[in-house]
Amino acid sequence: MPPFTRPERGLLADHARLLRCVQGIQDRSARAVPWEPDTVGLPRPRSNSALARINDVAFYANARDEVTALADVCAQLLRLHRPEEEHGEELCTGCRQTWPCPSFEEISRLLA
Ligand SMILES: [Zn+2]
Repeated sequence: MPPFTRPERGLLADHARLLRCVQGIQDRSARAVPWEPDTVGLPRPRSNSALARINDVAFYANARDEVTALADVCAQLLRLHRPEEEHGEELCTGCRQTWPCPSFEEISRLLA
């Protein structure tokens, strides 16, 4: 049966689910309208500190691009660390350790 019609099972399903989740973040961030003060406004400040307000504005202004960049890194790491069967054993294609490799386990833990 070709790989694209093979049902996903167990750890491969976990990898596919996590990659789909990250790809969803990539898609949403790519489609989102870039933030500008007039786009959606500014939330009410939590303090009277001008420095805190500048930090807030800088965060909102860069969040779309930064989320996209972080999602791209996650997707690339997941494409690098994915399972494959070799001689009856599941190994990671990236680090060649027994699947699930420590990198995938850590990515899963952090994105859970
Ligand atoms: Zn790995």
